[in-house]
Amino acid sequence: MRIDILTLFPEMCERVLDESIIGRARRNGIISVECHNIRDYTPDKHRRVDDMPYGGGQGMLMKPEPIEACFHAVSAQCSSRPFLIYMSPKGKVFNQNIARELLGKENICILCGHYEGIDQRVIDSMVDMELSVGDYVLTGGEMPALIVTDAVCRMVPGVLAEDACFEEESHYSGLLEHPQYTRPPVWKGMSVPEELLSGHHARIAGWKRMKALEQTAKYRPDLLLQADLSSEERRHLMEKQLL
Ligand code: SAM
Repeated sequence: MRIDILTLFPEMCERVLDESIIGRARRNGIISVECHNIRDYTPDKHRRVDDMPYGGGQGMLMKPEPIEACFHAVSAQCSSRPFLIYMSPKGKVFNQNIARELLGKENICILCGHYEGIDQRVIDSMVDMELSVGDYVLTGGEMPALIVTDAVCRMVPGVLAEDACFEEESHYSGLLEHPQYTRPPVWKGMSVPEELLSGHHARIAGWKRMKALEQTAKYRPDLLLQADLSSEERRHLMEKQLL
């Protein structure tokens, strides 16, 4: 999988992408994530990439020409036209299902806006998907682009030790994950649930499933509406007054 991030602040992205699990996967060649400075593609001799919005209004808007030139330069390096995502507070709210959908794409380009955003004509003529990271406004699309990159890349085979690492986590199956514990078995008078110490695989699996349902009912009852629950699971949640 190849992801290209188009931004006015490539160093900001590089600093994050160099670290930890994603940094290691990049160095090992499991994923390719490159950052491109849109400013390098401006035809303007003063390297301007923004201008005042027509009709007035606050702030500056990113001009279309450097964005198009940057995208074309990146596309020329790819075997097929990259799927172009524009990070925007107006977009569809990003979630695990969208991350899984994006995992199926060979090349993805993520365009980061800044200032007041970008010229609408870029969105209308080039962008394949607008994605938001939530109903709030940030100064730029760099952090949102890093969120999308991280969520997608960690599911690429070989990035994490095993696929089970993400398959058992919150949201992958539509539920939240069960609570987790590590040593010591007793901390400040609080014990690790005895099921987890039992060594009995079926009992542990049953406990994890019930606790995942309980956590989901408690924190995200909206997710539980979509879940496929057995009659025993329904009864369990009703007894706990979570359904
Ligand atoms: N004027 C825009 C509006 O009101 O919709 C907001 C522009 S914002 C200050 C600058 C850039 O940050 C946007 O172009 C976008 O790339 C990014 N951005 C801000 N909030 C975001 C969010 N919630 N999700 C994704 N990207 C966001």
